[in-house]
Amino acid sequence: METKINNAMIALVQGDITREETEAIVNAANSGLKGGGGVDGAIHRAGGPSIMEECREIGYCSTGQAVVTGGGNLKAGYIIHTVGPVYSGGNRGEADLLKSAYLESLKKVTQNRLRSVSFPAISAGIYGYPPREAAHIALETTINYVKNHEDIELVRFVLFSRDIYDVFSDELKKMI
Ligand code: ADP
Repeated sequence: METKINNAMIALVQGDITREETEAIVNAANSGLKGGGGVDGAIHRAGGPSIMEECREIGYCSTGQAVVTGGGNLKAGYIIHTVGPVYSGGNRGEADLLKSAYLESLKKVTQNRLRSVSFPAISAGIYGYPPREAAHIALETTINYVKNHEDIELVRFVLFSRDIYDVFSDELKKMI
């Protein structure tokens, strides 16, 4: 499904983010920028070794922050690596940190003068964030951002499974 908010199309799709053609894709990375399982592993596998070389030079990214590398062999020219929180009950600042991961990623889009970006469901896999709450924070943060930033024309949420796609769709329908 998709909906227009201010100058931006917000689109939800089921799929593999490594195949996206937006100018940037976001990686759900870890603080050491060392790759790993889930979407992080998929991006490094598909994009080739230059991405890891750049990550090694950058070295570290705190939870809730974001760093940028080139896209290697991917169609996207940029990868925004952000670190979502590990969910441990919900009383350890997880919501603020997840919001910050989206916000800092969106700021990188603006700072690099890009117009389109794709996000995975940050923290909703290995990091254990409850999908509905994760979807709500993802969509609310993005909608508020594009309301104030006309530079962004397209934000795609690329959801790997039907289940997480359905959760994002439900939450988006409630917000529009
Ligand atoms: P985290 O450690 O932040 O939880 P994960 O990579 O484990 O990150 O999971 C985040 C989300 O990304 C999950 O919903 C997972 O199913 C999804 N995912 C895994 N591989 C891909 C992919 N190639 N494209 C898009 N989403 C993916």
